[in-house]
Amino acid sequence: MNTGSMLAKSACDVLVIGGGAAGMMAALQAAYAGASVILLEKNEKLGKKIYITGKGRCNVTNVADIDDFFGQVPRNAKFLNAACRQFTHEDVTALLEMLGTPTKVERGGRVFPQSEKASDVTKALHHGMKDAGVQVELNCEVSHIRKEDKLFAVDFTRGGTLRARSVIVATGGVSYPSTGSTGDGYRFARENGHTITPVKGSLVGLTIEEKWPKLLQGLSLKNVRVQAKAGKKTIYDELGEMLFTHFGVSGPLIIELSSHMPDDFSGVNVTLDMKPALTDEQIDLRLQREFAENARKQLSSVLVSLMPARMGPVFAELCGLSPETAINQITREQRLTIGRMLKALPLRVGGTRPIEEAIVTRGGVEVREILPGTMMSRKQEGLFFAGEVLDVDAHTGGFNLQIAFSTGALAGKSAAAYAMDME
Ligand SMILES: Cc1cc2nc3c(=O)[nH]c(=O)nc-3n(C[C@H](O)[C@H](O)[C@H](O)COP(=O)(O)OP(=O)(O)OC[C@H]3O[C@@H](n4cnc5c(N)ncnc54)[C@H](O)[C@@H]3O)c2cc1C
Repeated sequence: MNTGSMLAKSACDVLVIGGGAAGMMAALQAAYAGASVILLEKNEKLGKKIYITGKGRCNVTNVADIDDFFGQVPRNAKFLNAACRQFTHEDVTALLEMLGTPTKVERGGRVFPQSEKASDVTKALHHGMKDAGVQVELNCEVSHIRKEDKLFAVDFTRGGTLRARSVIVATGGVSYPSTGSTGDGYRFARENGHTITPVKGSLVGLTIEEKWPKLLQGLSLKNVRVQAKAGKKTIYDELGEMLFTHFGVSGPLIIELSSHMPDDFSGVNVTLDMKPALTDEQIDLRLQREFAENARKQLSSVLVSLMPARMGPVFAELCGLSPETAINQITREQRLTIGRMLKALPLRVGGTRPIEEAIVTRGGVEVREILPGTMMSRKQEGLFFAGEVLDVDAHTGGFNLQIAFSTGALAGKSAAAYAMDME
């Protein structure tokens, strides 16, 4: 790389750190705005995380309207208002189409490249940057950012320093660190006077204290309801699908629930409703009818009509009964217990799986220290942030990439305007 020698004498307008979704979009938009742009990426290739998104298909955005979109952002949604309105899902898909990667909409408004290849999204953005004149430098890890007079000095590991009028930090969070997101941006933010809110994994499986979920490892339950309460307050209540695993529970409902869990799990009661379409009374009537029709059979033979066969014996034990119990031996009280457990099976959450396994990082650069209309730091003029490095995260469905693209686009345009005003 000849970056150091090339730029020793002159400074570029915008220097972007990180070649993920947010950084590539920021670089592209800054270049479209007429700025000279350099993007530094520490990996040997761009967009390593994009390759694994959407199980390799990249759920690139979601067609939800803006208010529904904000409903998918559990925290700091207001901060995203300007960014997400000035660069919408339509802007993302139009840009990808223009760059040769048309998209299609699937169930739940999820948008994917028509080719179903996540790599096409990275390729499109890479080609777009090349055409727009962005200088992309790979294998280039930034170690420090400091302001010297009016310019930023950005040190990178191979012993060089670049100077820039504005800098965009788009280094991601700390989940899936093998993709390059190792939390470096938090250090750069701290060095420039920022607060980092506590980081932890979001959109991740939950460990369960009870042993029984592990016995059902691999079993998925469809059309169930998961509810979580902290004291009297309902913090989550949704219908969908979940999965038992070797550590506890996962699957779409649980992954989403994880982003609503408070810091202290001890006061949270999570319950599983296996018959959400039926009321408590309707469940009891159904049990009475089935028990009457199968009086001479064993409990397990009735449970198979209520849940997957594998779950029956475990469920019977949880109700304090043997699966072999004869139906005509079951008391009214025991029948009511079965009904109660069908409607609200308790799950004691121990914690989340490690942050390295989380789809997204919760916490990061404190958004109150960032101007929402430009993504510029309130602490250090000319320094901008975009993407997962910020304390913003959303549910699954293409919303996290949209946040990366929207904040990236806004940071790119604003950083270009800031730098070109200085000239
Ligand atoms: C398994 C998985 C599946 C996902 N699927 C989806 C999905 O389908 N849809 C969706 O919307 N979201 C999905 N997400 C979330 C989404 O991928 C991220 O929120 C998004 O990619 C964040 O983009 P970013 O640019 O902010 O950060 P990143 O993509 O993490 O990019 C940061 C970049 O900065 C580079 N970098 C870091 N430090 C330095 C440094 N010191 N110097 C130079 N470069 C540096 C890194 O190498 C990296 O390339 C998924 C996440 C995971 C883990």
